[in-house]
This record gives sequence, structure tokens and C-alpha cells, in this order.
Amino acid sequence: MKDECVDKNLFTQLDHAFIRKEPFGVVLIIGAFNYPIQLTLIPLVGAIAAGNCVILKPSEVSSHTERLLAEALPCYLDSETFAVVTAGPEETGKLLENKFDYIFFTGNNRVGKIIMTAAAKHLTPLTMELGGKSPCYVDHYCNFQNAANRIVWGKFINAGQTCISPDYVICTVETQEKLMPCLRHAIREFYGTDPKESPDFGRMVNDKHFQRVRALLKCGRVAIGGETDERDRYIAPTVMVDVKEWEPIMQEEVFGPILPIFTVKDLEEAIQFINCRERPLAAYAFSCDDKVVNCVLDSISSGGFCGNDTVTRATLISLPFGGIGLSGFGKYHGKFTFDTFTHFRGCLLRCMGLEAINKVRYPPFDDKKLGIVVSALEIKRRGMCTLL
Ligand code: NAD
Repeated sequence: MKDECVDKNLFTQLDHAFIRKEPFGVVLIIGAFNYPIQLTLIPLVGAIAAGNCVILKPSEVSSHTERLLAEALPCYLDSETFAVVTAGPEETGKLLENKFDYIFFTGNNRVGKIIMTAAAKHLTPLTMELGGKSPCYVDHYCNFQNAANRIVWGKFINAGQTCISPDYVICTVETQEKLMPCLRHAIREFYGTDPKESPDFGRMVNDKHFQRVRALLKCGRVAIGGETDERDRYIAPTVMVDVKEWEPIMQEEVFGPILPIFTVKDLEEAIQFINCRERPLAAYAFSCDDKVVNCVLDSISSGGFCGNDTVTRATLISLPFGGIGLSGFGKYHGKFTFDTFTHFRGCLLRCMGLEAINKVRYPPFDDKKLGIVVSALEIKRRGMCTLL
């Protein structure tokens, strides 16, 4: 938070040049339902640390956590400075008519566009933490059981309602054949023979999401799982094969416990498939050959990347978390959260005297003055460019 001194050029050697970290002012944080504590409190902590006032709008979908936040936060925080607003889409629309100094939104990109449109009316800067279809490439040269364990864990945690869960696996038919028994084994190991009885396997958050995800089972062919129970909003950990790229399961973010496997001829075709689509929030590649993992890393664009594992990347607070393209913009976690809610104010404090030094920049101009000015503007330690 301290003022940060910066390098100076010859012109400003005797001055004080620094970056002051200031709050934006009043920040609106809108959370998604799937990790209702984390997605509201992590930005809240960063916004407070950066010195902002906050209006927190948790998701009304995870209604118990919404109530908990609304009741508990005022017990610990000054409610004149940090307010919790409980609101559905309509009321949030009204809330957005107000002018905020910063908006931090987590949710899907359809709603993201509504939020951005509202923010544009006031030119309010924002962070958009959105979703998308995060691909998971599996190579033929792989430890299939380890890969399957890590994919199953990342996919089925929170019943697939995780923004960075591997949305689909992409591999060759031969790889699919080797991976399938390992996926089956991992699902059984983690959730038992009847995952419905497992205390470690979740449910869809509400009926709407249950109906949406269950409808995706009509695509392709179920290879593992596929059982559902509407009363319990239960959808078994499911793996699907023979899915077509035009089917809904390959068009929309799954956000549920269904893992489609899309087959391609080779790595090149997999990369081409991924690159023909919107840039995802996360991308994963599994291979015992580092060159393959690095090839995927280098050849595609995504918000974040993890080689030989899935969701774990998000546990490292030293890494920025955020999307690119349709998966969002801006970043947070760890120090990046503080930076997100901070205005970096570039400041220069000059002394009133030493006017002789300044004379070179005043008209009338000549070539000699120009030469002095150019060399006086350089910051030697950072190289010779005066523009960057
Ligand atoms: P959502 O967009 O439906 O809702 C998010 C928030 O927006 C909620 O607080 C909701 O009340 C509000 N909202 C909904 N409709 C609105 C409207 N018309 N006007 C104003 N506000 C409105 O998202 P969700 O279903 O809660 O969450 C799932 C999505 O969020 C997925 O796409 C997922 O990938 C994404 N997500 C992203 C991250 C990330 O960090 N990038 C994290 C979690 C979830």
C-alpha cells in the first residue's frame, strides 16, 4: 500500500516520483452462486485492503449463503461502509442504475453483457470473471490413471459447478479407449458404486440448472453414469462419448457433472478445434511428454493453464486468476485482488527552483536543445526507449 518510488530520468533526478495506491471509491461486487463465499469474500477482502467502500451483492440462487452473508457481515464490518444487498436480477438492474466507481462481476457472459452495458452509462471500470468451455487435452503418451483421477476430481467437485472445471476432454479414439476404464475406476474410487449415496458428491443448485444439465444427456452416448433423480436434483457423474461439435453439450458451458469426450485425429487437430472456439477461462493438457504439454500451452490462448492437473492452479495465490476474450477480463487472487481494486496514481513532486535545467524544454527550440531533452528523458537502467 505504501507509495512506490520509481526510476527517474535525468530531468527528474532531484524530484520525487512515485506511485500512490488509492481506492477507486465505492465498489459493487456481484457474486455467482457456485462458490458463494469465496466469490464474494475474496474480492471483498481485496477491496477493503485497497481502501474502498463496498456494496456486496451475493447470488440469490445460493439463498442460504446469501442470507448468512447479509446477517453475518454487519456483525463484523461497519455497515455504513460495507453493505450487503440481497437482490435478484430485477433489483440488481435497479442497483446498477447507480454510479459506482468499480464493478467486480462473477457470472456468465450473458449477464456479463448486461452488467457491462449498465457500467458503460457511467464509464465505470470493471472486472468480468466469466466462464466458458475449458478444454482438457489428453495425450496418447500418458499415465492414464493419474490423469483420470485428476480430471474426475476437477470435473465432479461441486457436481461440476466450477468455472474452471475441465468442460470436455479432447483426445484421439485410441486415447479415449485407454482413458475410459481409468475414468470409471476413479469415479468408483471417489464416490463408490452408487455416487448418490456418497457424502462427497453434490447436487445441482436448483431445478432450473438440473433441467438444463439433464437435457444435455440427450447428446451423444452415455458411457458412464447418466442416472438422474429430479426430486433430489441428482445427476450422476457422467462421461459421454460420440458427441458432435454442433450438439448443445459442445456449444454451451456444461456447468454440471457431465464430461463429454470429443475425439480428434491428433494433437494438431485438437489445437485447431480449441483455437476455432472462444478463448476459455482455463485449459488443461495431460502428457508424460513435456513437449506436448508445452505445445498446447504455446499454441492456444486461455485465461489460465495447468499441465498434468486441473483445478489446482487456482489454489496458488501467487498466480493471477481471470479470463480472456469471452471468459472475461481483469484478474484477482492474492496481491492481484488488491491491485484490481486500486487506482495506481502516478505522482511527480518537483521543486520550485533549478529553472536553468528546465530551460531546455521551453521555446524557442533548436537541435541542440532537442538532443539534450531526448537524452535527459531516458531512464538508463530500463533501456533507451523513451516511449515505453
Ligand atoms: P449468473 O450470471 O446467472 O449470476 C451471477 C450474478 O448476476 C448473480 O448475483 C445474479 O443475481 C446476477 N444476475 C443474474 N441475472 C442478472 C440480470 N439480468 N441483471 C443483473 N444481475 C443479474 O451466473 P451464475 O449462474 O450464478 O454462475 C455461473 C456462471 O458464472 C458460469 O458461467 C461460471 O463459469 C461463471 N463463474 C465464473 C467464475 C470466475 O471466477 N471466472 C467463478 C464462478 C462462476
